[in-house]
Amino acid sequence: MLMTNQKKPISIKNDPWEAYNDIEEHGKLTLSNIEFTTTNLCNMRCSHCAVGYTLQTKDPDPLPMDIIYRRLDEIPNLRTMSITGGEPMFSKKSIKNVVKPLLKYAQDRGIYVQMNSNLTLPQDRYLDIAEYIDVMHISHNWGTIQEFTNVGFGAMKKQPPLKAKLKLYEQMLNNASTLSEQGMFVSAETMLNQSTLPYLDKIHKEIVNDMKCSRHEVHPMYPADFASQLNVLSLKEMKQAIHHLLDIRNEDVWMLFGTLPIYPCINDENDQALLQRLRDAKNVTMRNDPDGRSRLNVNVFSGDVIVTDFGDENGTISNIKRDKLTDVFNKWLTSDLAQSLNCHCEAFHCLGPNVLVKNMYYPHTDFKQKEIEMHTESIFS
Ligand code: SF4
Repeated sequence: MLMTNQKKPISIKNDPWEAYNDIEEHGKLTLSNIEFTTTNLCNMRCSHCAVGYTLQTKDPDPLPMDIIYRRLDEIPNLRTMSITGGEPMFSKKSIKNVVKPLLKYAQDRGIYVQMNSNLTLPQDRYLDIAEYIDVMHISHNWGTIQEFTNVGFGAMKKQPPLKAKLKLYEQMLNNASTLSEQGMFVSAETMLNQSTLPYLDKIHKEIVNDMKCSRHEVHPMYPADFASQLNVLSLKEMKQAIHHLLDIRNEDVWMLFGTLPIYPCINDENDQALLQRLRDAKNVTMRNDPDGRSRLNVNVFSGDVIVTDFGDENGTISNIKRDKLTDVFNKWLTSDLAQSLNCHCEAFHCLGPNVLVKNMYYPHTDFKQKEIEMHTESIFS
């Protein structure tokens, strides 16, 4: 495979995970991101974790790396790789046999890498891979320390001592600030839900001032099965929360709104005003949800391929032992579900809703019909 190890720094003008890049570069939805689940192990058990209830105490053997490399080589437009778990830096065996080989592969091809970590492990583990990481992505939903000690271990049968939990919190703060100061791009994500809503100011300040993160990501929380213990916000509450964040945030720090449940085609004055406010705000970006628009998830143990890690809405759609990932992606795009979600309005750089957003907030909206209306309106306006 051709080596093109030239990467522009990540910035509000260069978000390699933005699925609209593929429309601009290739004229259509294109497989450009592979997420690997590299371990089922973690030192925490968050109630809201997408894989929190599937975590195990011992990983099975991974597939031979040759199969994985071959499947990656077959993706001509691979731009980004995401590494997730469990906690990808928890198992030394997994780091040596899977994570580091993947990081090196990405580096050789000039592919951007995001790692999804809880950043609570000893710092040397993260320093050891720092040179390969473009985005260190962590969750920060902790309005109070009790929230961390309860929800952060909510899915764990035998609870660790309180002191041990508190130490992990300190370590997370310390790791984030030290790694940021050393030049790592640490991006902290907060879900908007009933638990975080009263503490958004505090969480934002901690992310910016104490953890010194380069980006604060904000996503709504949807009632997927893994998140059933937490309370979702109504659409009205969500919009108020976004306005509030825009009011209180530090404008010098990038704020990324992902899976935003507000669309240009929704005929609501307030929605359109909020969208405009987001477009005009300094250092704010909105990202088209990458799930199923440009990304597939591969489990390195089974080889199973899924479209989304948000709650396994669609189940396994293929396996890399059998299929090329580009073929899997192209077949997925022809499925009824993908067809019902994949609208596109060029004027707004919008690629339609995420499946969970649609199911939660717009179950009866036909976005393909909306797309027709939008296109008709723009022709006659
Ligand atoms: S792409 Fe879909 S969701 Fe976005 S504005 Fe157009 S019709 Fe609405």
